Amino acid sequence: MPYIDSYYADNRISIAPFAALTEHIQADVCVVGAGLAGLTAARELAAAGKSVCLLEAHDIGWGASGRNGGFVSDGYAEGMGALEKKLGRDHAKALFALSQEGTQYVKDRMAGFAIPQLPMGRNWLSVVRHDVGDDMLRHAAQMNTEYGANYEARSTEEVRASLKSDSYFQGLEDGNAIHIQPLNYALGLADDARAQGAQIFVQSPATDLQKLRNGFELTTSNGSRINCGQVILCGSAYMHHLYPRIEGAVLPVATYVVTSAKRPDLLENAITYRGCISDNRRAGDYYRLVDEGQRLLWGGRITTQRSEPKKLATLLKNDIAKIYPQLSELEIEYAWSGLMGYCVHKMPVLRELEPGLWTATATGGHGLNTTATIGKVVAEAVAGTSDRYQLFAPFKAQWGGGLLGRLGTQMSYWAMQAQDRWDERR
Ligand SMILES: Cc1cc2nc3c(=O)[nH]c(=O)nc-3n(C[C@H](O)[C@H](O)[C@H](O)COP(=O)(O)OP(=O)(O)OC[C@H]3O[C@@H](n4cnc5c(N)ncnc54)[C@H](O)[C@@H]3O)c2cc1C
Repeated sequence: MPYIDSYYADNRISIAPFAALTEHIQADVCVVGAGLAGLTAARELAAAGKSVCLLEAHDIGWGASGRNGGFVSDGYAEGMGALEKKLGRDHAKALFALSQEGTQYVKDRMAGFAIPQLPMGRNWLSVVRHDVGDDMLRHAAQMNTEYGANYEARSTEEVRASLKSDSYFQGLEDGNAIHIQPLNYALGLADDARAQGAQIFVQSPATDLQKLRNGFELTTSNGSRINCGQVILCGSAYMHHLYPRIEGAVLPVATYVVTSAKRPDLLENAITYRGCISDNRRAGDYYRLVDEGQRLLWGGRITTQRSEPKKLATLLKNDIAKIYPQLSELEIEYAWSGLMGYCVHKMPVLRELEPGLWTATATGGHGLNTTATIGKVVAEAVAGTSDRYQLFAPFKAQWGGGLLGRLGTQMSYWAMQAQDRWDERR
């Protein structure tokens, strides 16, 4: 399938094309899925001298990796407080340090790509929609002291000076975060992986995976085959009928993004902040100015329904106007959806499922640094150069409950959204 119609696809860089697999080949490792997890793993393995091939069903970054909000920041989809409670402080700190490595990995790779306008801005301001007093100050101090984060609390006055909305109160600014054009990052990474020696095949869905006496055989939809010693599954929420245990564990959760027409005149009366912005509700809004401040790229809403709402653009246009009434005339030029892969514990699944068969997936809504982290760490595991993957051992590929699980998750989203509305009303 071609890229969906999005602001990113319309502004993607051009690189030498990749072809479909049409023959029988051999490799040390085969990676399934050219999202950022698979691309990072393939790039790192090739750089370590392994023969690697990567199979992608559609095109580079066709899934969540080429459709997301573009926020790159430390941490995981699960909060550090919950991780500390579950694993203890030392383990949680080691995981946070790995997540910082993921953010740094993206920055380092981008520095070498020379792709114009790939980094689109710095810092992330997370704001609240009800008064939380000194909570932000305390949280920033704790994260900076105990985890080495780079957070700064912002008062309501400071927040409203750059986000001209009465809906917002205090904020927390992450000085390590950046925002990027994610599809161009994926394309740059694919080009880099190819330069390191990885063989990448697009329009080549893996349709069958067989265990052989010495390794594995993957077959693609046109009957081409790959024999390899090890496999890494990185298909996230888009993988079907290849390895049911992982597909049953990774719950697809949809979220939506729109991009406005160029209206710098309207936007400058609403948003002067040049970093990325989100509110901290359970299914909050996330947005930023792109195209040199001329357009607003706005994301929000989550649901376990795969089908796209009919009037998606209008729905999000109304969400924007609720926060910024001065933007009610802003026209929407692009509207799209994407699927995030969540496991019930909200942490990535990085493990050896059976000897030689690995997965690095389920990064949820916090995937831009996490795919770099797990891609790098799974490559180290497969190459036998580190056992850092053990830090993710507590997060198993737990079955998500099938249809009932999706229904339960949807109900818990509704409950969380009701709680958010209640907090704001209070
Ligand atoms: C709308 C949206 C907004 C988001 N915003 C942010 C954000 O601002 N910041 C952030 O950190 N995270 C964000 N995320 C989450 C982030 O995008 C994801 O966590 C991350 O991109 C997942 O990468 P991945 O490589 O695991 O999966 P994907 O990018 O989904 O890639 C999986 C790939 O595998 C391929 N595939 C599947 N099955 C097969 C098969 N059998 N054979 C071959 N190929 C196969 C698919 O075609 C797909 O290309 C957002 C997600 C969405 C959807």
